[in-house]
Amino acid sequence: METWQRTVDCGALRAEHVGQQVVLNGWAHSVRDHGDLVFIDLRDRTGLIQLRADAASGAEAVAAAGGVKPEFVISVAGEVRRRADGMENPKLDTGAVEVNIISLRVLNTCRQPLPFQLSDEAHMALVNEELRVKYRYLDLRRPSMYQTLKLRHDVVALMRRHLGAKGFLEIETPIFTKSTPEGARDYLVPYRLEPGFFYALPQSPQQYKQLLMVAGCERYFQIARCFRDEAQRADRQPEFTQLDVEMSFVTQEDVLRLTEDLTVELVETLSAKTLGSKPFTRLTYDEAMARYGSDKPDLRFGLELVNLGECLRETTFGVFRATLDAGGLVKALRYPGGASLSRKEIDTLGSMARDSGAKGLAYLQVDASADGAALSARGPVAKHLTADELAAVLAAAQAEPGDLVLFAADRPKVVAQVLGRMRTEIGARLKLADPNVLYFCWVTDFPLVEWNDDEARWDASHHPFTMPHPEDLGFLLDDPGRVRAQCYDIVCNGVEWASGSIRIHRRDIQAQVFGLLGIDEATQQERFAHMLEAFEFGAPPHGGIAPGIDRLIMLLTDTENIREVMAFPKLGGGSDPMMGAPSEVDAAQLAELGLRIVKE
Ligand code: ASP
Repeated sequence: METWQRTVDCGALRAEHVGQQVVLNGWAHSVRDHGDLVFIDLRDRTGLIQLRADAASGAEAVAAAGGVKPEFVISVAGEVRRRADGMENPKLDTGAVEVNIISLRVLNTCRQPLPFQLSDEAHMALVNEELRVKYRYLDLRRPSMYQTLKLRHDVVALMRRHLGAKGFLEIETPIFTKSTPEGARDYLVPYRLEPGFFYALPQSPQQYKQLLMVAGCERYFQIARCFRDEAQRADRQPEFTQLDVEMSFVTQEDVLRLTEDLTVELVETLSAKTLGSKPFTRLTYDEAMARYGSDKPDLRFGLELVNLGECLRETTFGVFRATLDAGGLVKALRYPGGASLSRKEIDTLGSMARDSGAKGLAYLQVDASADGAALSARGPVAKHLTADELAAVLAAAQAEPGDLVLFAADRPKVVAQVLGRMRTEIGARLKLADPNVLYFCWVTDFPLVEWNDDEARWDASHHPFTMPHPEDLGFLLDDPGRVRAQCYDIVCNGVEWASGSIRIHRRDIQAQVFGLLGIDEATQQERFAHMLEAFEFGAPPHGGIAPGIDRLIMLLTDTENIREVMAFPKLGGGSDPMMGAPSEVDAAQLAELGLRIVKE
C-alpha cells in the first residue's frame, strides 16, 4: 500500500480510536482557515471528520492545510484526538473526535468557484436543477444524494436475496427488440444493415418474460430497465427501473403473496416507517372507485365518498334528479371544518372540480341548529332539498357542525374523478396522512379494457397480455366493458408501485383479445406472431408483476421528484445536459443508416 492510501474511512472514527495514527483520503468539504489554526471537514462516502492543523502539526502542515480549497482531493496522515470539552458536534457521527494533521498531501486540486456550494444544503435547495444535473458528478458528492444511491443498492440487493432464496433466476432480456406495448410511444433504434428497419427499446420485458415461462424457467426476475416515450411528470422518466417478475403454474393469490412478503421485508428492513396494514388491505377496482374515487387511493386517512342515491330517491332538485334519471350518480364528500372557507377558497375547489370534468361544484355549509339538537345547512344546495332529504344527506355524509359537504352529480367516472381529486386535496390541506406510514393496498379486478373516446376503440387497461376473469370470458364479444381482468396493482400512499396480472397462455384467447383491441389479424401476425405461435407449444399458465424501483425509493425517502432518486436522470423533455444528449450525429453516420433528416 502506498503511504498516501487510507487506513480507515472518515465516517468510521469514534472515541475508541483516540490515540491512533490514521491515514484518510477524501474531499475537503469545507475549510476554515484562522491563520495558525486550520480546520478542514474531510468527506468520503462514509461521512465527515474534522481535521485540525495547529502548532502541534508544525508550520509545514498548517501551511499545506491553509492552501486547501473546497473539493480538493487530499490524503492526510494524523492522530485521532478527543475534541476539547464543549467542542463536540452531536450532528456528526464522528463528532466526538477530530484528527490532528501530521502531514497533508494534495492528490488533486479543484477549480474554484464550483458551480454550487455542495457543502451547504440550504444553498443547494435553491440551486437550479438543470445546473445540478449538468454537474451531476458534483451533486452526487453530497452525502444526502449518496445515501439515496446506497438505499437503492440495498433495496435491489434485498430483492435479489429474497427472490434468489425462493428459487427465482435472474435472467437478462434484450434491450434491442421489437415493440412491447405498455401504452406509451416506443424509442426506436435504426438498423444499419437494413435501412428502414428499426429495433424498439422495450417498454417492459413483458413478452420475453412470458416466453421464458414457455421456455420452462418457471421463476424469473430481472432488475429491468424500461423505456417509454411519454409525457414526463414529476414521477416519470423516459427510462426507469422495475423489478420484473414472472412465475408459472400460479394463481393470482400466489403472486400477491410473494409480492406482499417481499414488500413487507423491504419496508421492515430498510425503513423506519410503519406499515399501514399487514396483511395489505385489498380493494377491488370497483370498491376503490366507489369509496375513494381513485384506483390509487391514499388509505392513510378515511374520508370516503358517500353515495346519496338512496337519500335522494324522491328528490325534485333538477340537477340531481336529471343525473339520477340518466343512470348517473350523486355522491358527497365531507370536508371537515370546511364551512369556514372563504368564498374564494371554495371557488378554488370549484375550478379544480371543473378541471376534473365536473360542470360545477355544489356544496353545503353545515352548522349546529339554534337549539343545538340537529344540524342545519346553508349554501346553494340547501334550498333545493326538503328538510328530510337534507337531514338524510347530512347523516349519510356523517357531517358535523363546521363541515363543508361537497357534491358531485354526473356519470360514475366523472363523479369518481372529481371527488377523488377533492379527497386528495382535502387530505393534503388538512394534513390527514401520517408521513411516517406506508399504507400499501392491493387493487384487484380492474376492467380488462377501457373505452377510448378520442380514438373510438377499446384500449387495454393494463396491457394486451392480461387474462380475463374466467367468469367474464362470455362477455368478451358483446359487452367488453364488463369484463374484469385478472390484474392487480399495489398502491402505496396514493402512488401505484406495482402492477401485474395472470397472463393469457392460450392462442385463441390472445387472438380474441387482440381483435377486441382493434389489432387485426395481419397486424397480429406482423407484431405478435411469436407470442401466438409460442402459445401453441405448451405454454404453462403463468402470471407476474413489476414493482417500480424508483417509485419505492421515492416512497421510502419522501421524495416527490423521481430525478432525486436516480443517479443520472433526464430533465424535462428527456435531455441530459451533462452528456449533451440527445445530440446531432454526423452526416456519414446518417448515410450509413440510410437516414435523412427532414427539418420542418
Ligand atoms: N409489464 C408490466 C408493466 O411494465 C408489468 C407486468 O404485468 O408484469 O407494467
